[in-house]
Amino acid sequence: MYETLALYIDGEFIEGGGRRTEEVTNPSTLEVLGQLPHATTADLDRALAAAERAFQTWRHSSPMLRGEILRKVGQLSRDRANDIGRNLTLDQGKPLAEAVGEIISCADHCDWHAEECRRIYGRVILPRSPEVRQLVLREPIGVCAAFTPWNFPYNQAIRKICAAIGAGCTIILKGPEDSPSAVMAIARMFHDAGLPPGVLNIVWGVPSEVSDYLIRSPIVRKVSFTGSVPVGKHLASLAGAHMKRVTMELGGHSPVLVFDDADINRAAKMLAKFKVRNAGQVCVSPTRFYVQEAAYDQFLEAFVNTLKSVKVGDGLDPDTQMGPLAHERRVPTMTKFVENAVDRGGKVVLGGEVLDRPGHFFSPTVITDLPEDAMLMTEEPFGPLAPIVRFSDTDEVIRRANSLPFGLSSYVFTNSLQTATRVSNDLESGMVNINHFGSALPETPFGGVKDSGIGSEGGAETFDSYLVTKFVTHV
Ligand code: NAD
Repeated sequence: MYETLALYIDGEFIEGGGRRTEEVTNPSTLEVLGQLPHATTADLDRALAAAERAFQTWRHSSPMLRGEILRKVGQLSRDRANDIGRNLTLDQGKPLAEAVGEIISCADHCDWHAEECRRIYGRVILPRSPEVRQLVLREPIGVCAAFTPWNFPYNQAIRKICAAIGAGCTIILKGPEDSPSAVMAIARMFHDAGLPPGVLNIVWGVPSEVSDYLIRSPIVRKVSFTGSVPVGKHLASLAGAHMKRVTMELGGHSPVLVFDDADINRAAKMLAKFKVRNAGQVCVSPTRFYVQEAAYDQFLEAFVNTLKSVKVGDGLDPDTQMGPLAHERRVPTMTKFVENAVDRGGKVVLGGEVLDRPGHFFSPTVITDLPEDAMLMTEEPFGPLAPIVRFSDTDEVIRRANSLPFGLSSYVFTNSLQTATRVSNDLESGMVNINHFGSALPETPFGGVKDSGIGSEGGAETFDSYLVTKFVTHV
């Protein structure tokens, strides 16, 4: 059974009821899975009022209570992972093992926030005269509005919800209309874990209409968004016009630097497998491959051979290693990248085609010999496309890696400590992974620099943007 789709407002699940609905389809089979109700303006007003009312109590709740609820949700995530994962594969397309893995790994996010919310500290500042006391308090910012995308529907929503709830805030979250089941499952788990009504509210609708309405509301004090750079800039400017705090987790175009002293076969195999994770629809996916001259041929061969063996298919098939793209609209985008690459002299070494079968399938693709200003080298593909080019020395590759306005993640393969230190100092990137992939754990900060975003999620930083600082002094 696919998830029953509903709004979740003030502790109540609200289905249809004559509201406008949107069809949710399976990107592998194009089968219609369900009808998602859109929130009316009255629903949004109700969610705002509920979040505002609930905040008056929740802000004073003990971190022990917050932690207890978050831990319960973590346990429920583990208990329900197979069912939630199956629905996530149905409406998003990723292979079942990846979907279930997303749910289970997110249980750790619940546990981390449950523990970390006990460590929200203020401080005492020494006064200039002994009768004065000076206190710094950190208080929850208030009602948060969050907008999360379709590529990791569970992960991206639960991170924002845990951070808001753990900090003592209340939250209205608009999840991804294309792949809504995982966010519905989150609402059910918080409901079952005993979260008071109004602390978490889930709404759906036309993204631009819902975000515009919520961000303009004086009730909302903070905006958090994960998605594309242009939409992030738009929402950040709207939030800025209303003087609201933002967290922006936006796109990247992650450079991969493979130095000739690295273990080339290991790097190529690891990177090829990582490239097709979630069909490349990952904001930290490796997307620009710079390989040092002497290692180039060996890397290309091992990378292409690994990708050739990837089984593409329906995510529910246990043999599938890469599913479809999540939407119809992503397929022509892939074709546009490939056509532009060919026009610019690129060589398609593998793939480059829409697969001839129902569903939104595009083949794992490798393109070489691209000029630096080809579309694939400058715009995030967000799909299973890998451009591979050569470099000669460290200065040059750092310059090329830093040449774009993005700075989310980067990947380096080298056996030289000197090179590892140099590139980790000089790459303009929120996350640098050297010889392995280690980002996105609950205990480590996740976030970008430059156009890739503002703020971090996870790590000890996780509550920073959900808290305001208040200075109190008395005699
Ligand atoms: P898009 O730019 O139309 O939308 C990206 C996400 O933002 C979607 O979830 C969408 O529902 C949401 N969105 C769009 N306009 C919005 C608005 N005005 N208010 C609130 N939410 C809004 O692109 P798309 O076709 O859905 O996805 C493709 C691009 O999005 C990719 O190229 C990639 O860069 C980016 N993306 C990034 C992430 C990420 O994890 N950073 C996730 C998904 C998509």
